[in-house]
Amino acid sequence: MAPHDHIADPFAGARLTIDLAALTANYSLIAARVAPARTAAVVKADAYGLGATRVAPALAEMGCRDFFVAHLAEAIALRPHLPADAALYVLNGLQPGAERRCATLGILPVLNSLDQARRWAAMAREIGHALPAVLQVDSGMSRLGLQPEEVAALAEDKAFFEQVPLRLVMSHLACADEPGNAANAEQLRRFHALAALLPPALLSFANSGGAFLPAAFHHDLVRAGVSLYGAAPNGEGPNPMRPVVRLDARIIQVRAIPAGTGVGYGLTFNKSEPARIATIGVGYADGWPRHLSNRGAAFFGGVRLPIAGRVSMDSITLDVTALAEGALGPGDEVELIGPHQTLEQVAADAGTIPYEILTSLGSRYSRIYSDGVPGDLSNAVD
Ligand SMILES: *Cc1c(COP(=O)(O)O)cnc(C)c1O
Repeated sequence: MAPHDHIADPFAGARLTIDLAALTANYSLIAARVAPARTAAVVKADAYGLGATRVAPALAEMGCRDFFVAHLAEAIALRPHLPADAALYVLNGLQPGAERRCATLGILPVLNSLDQARRWAAMAREIGHALPAVLQVDSGMSRLGLQPEEVAALAEDKAFFEQVPLRLVMSHLACADEPGNAANAEQLRRFHALAALLPPALLSFANSGGAFLPAAFHHDLVRAGVSLYGAAPNGEGPNPMRPVVRLDARIIQVRAIPAGTGVGYGLTFNKSEPARIATIGVGYADGWPRHLSNRGAAFFGGVRLPIAGRVSMDSITLDVTALAEGALGPGDEVELIGPHQTLEQVAADAGTIPYEILTSLGSRYSRIYSDGVPGDLSNAVD
């Protein structure tokens, strides 16, 4: 059996390797593509599950100075890990009562409604100095942001912009991952019309998908999320991003079973020939979707090993009959995400999107941050 001393926690069910060199290469690729627009990093949900306190500093080192999270708590936790001159934005907006916290910590709430905008201006009055405003306008997604009549109302309020000088106007694309969707051009048109009502400010519109739309979509600041973490920015052509995540699980047990033997909860896997079944210590509690029961696979040396039966909470059974007897044993590793099985493939098998697979990655894995070949401890920076 191969030695496994490169697993940081030798008793973990699987090793998650996060390649920081691939992450920063992806940042450079987006930054070069959208220049002269600046590239911000979206690091909400713990940097899509990969660890915001490792990801954000690595991107700051690349020159990134704009970071977006979803919640104030995420911003507060991340602030000490960012350079003092980095801007930190809270996408979900300004919760009532959070005004002073944001102002004191220099955190920028994305103002998503008139009420939020007015509370931010009131805080500026209270502390006696101007606070920068980041406004989100709803250009068609109907999720967050000021609606057109609210933008018009705010535009009339000249005193408002003295207390909170407008720094950034942003909006979000609903269909950026479909470059051919006519909704993109329509949203762009509405974004420009709404921004024209407001005092001059920097503009931000594109997410990962938007970065791969024409330059007219890039404006001043692109908000890149999933593409930094290796997922394809859209469904067209080969994925231009470098894979960042690799997941390898260790075999706990291998057994031979006679023809007609059921496997797993509900005995939903049952072959008419003898089979060999290997069990790994990863389950739906680790973010491996139960929907992959009898659908997904693992890989060993390029051989596809189908998931046999239901995904359990803490384990998965694999049909390893395709391998020679004895080729695989306890302690050997199989690939769940890696060169043979991409994040996109796992998501497709599970009937979901790479975002959901990434953000579900469990806390029980042994995590290795490498700045070289994924899984190679000689390059680990832990
Ligand atoms: C999550 C999010 C992003 C990043 O989107 P990706 O598709 O992951 O690049 C950008 N902007 C807003 C408003 C978001 O909510």
